[in-house]
Amino acid sequence: MRYDDVSDQLDEILVTEEQLRARIAELARQIERDCDGQDLLLVGVLKGAVMVMSDLSRALTIPLTMDWMAVSSYGHGTTSSGVVRILKDLDTDIAGRHVLLVEDIIDTGLTLSWLRDNLISRGASSVKIFAALRKPEAVKVNIVADYLGFDIPNKFVVGYGLDFAENYRHLRDVAVLSPRVYAESE
Ligand code: 5GP
Repeated sequence: MRYDDVSDQLDEILVTEEQLRARIAELARQIERDCDGQDLLLVGVLKGAVMVMSDLSRALTIPLTMDWMAVSSYGHGTTSSGVVRILKDLDTDIAGRHVLLVEDIIDTGLTLSWLRDNLISRGASSVKIFAALRKPEAVKVNIVADYLGFDIPNKFVVGYGLDFAENYRHLRDVAVLSPRVYAESE
């Protein structure tokens, strides 16, 4: 493993930086075809989607703008609370805009389905969803990712923007956090 300082806290690498980059490039070509000349607004969900937004936006070669929202999700635990609260709202009026909602991971899908409905209610012309990762639980809810990076098993992962108590976001790959780490902090 390439993380000498934290490698004892990680069980395995699930998706490498190289796999992420290649898949995002493929999806970017698909988005360009689907956009067909329409201006795109990328909406990133802070803080986890920072890396995905950065890579996806630079992989795209069509006109686009970016905005950000922050919503409450897991806090410091590892299971979804189901409570969505806006911590930072958009700066942009999205009425009539084609929005691509960019998320790091879909687990229960509660966050994204709430966000999608919220953006539609503001009059966006279209709201599509890009998710870098998806867990098996996501198939149970009414949320379809228009663009999906990778399906992963139902394990708590960190890296590529994903954190545990604000740590590990900077890791270049997606890795399974050793359950020892959260057992220690409980
Ligand atoms: P959902 O509402 O789909 O259950 O949860 C989505 C949010 O939960 C994600 O944006 C992310 O912040 C967090 N989340 C879900 N699964 C994981 C995971 O395995 N690791 C981390 N670090 N966060 C996760």
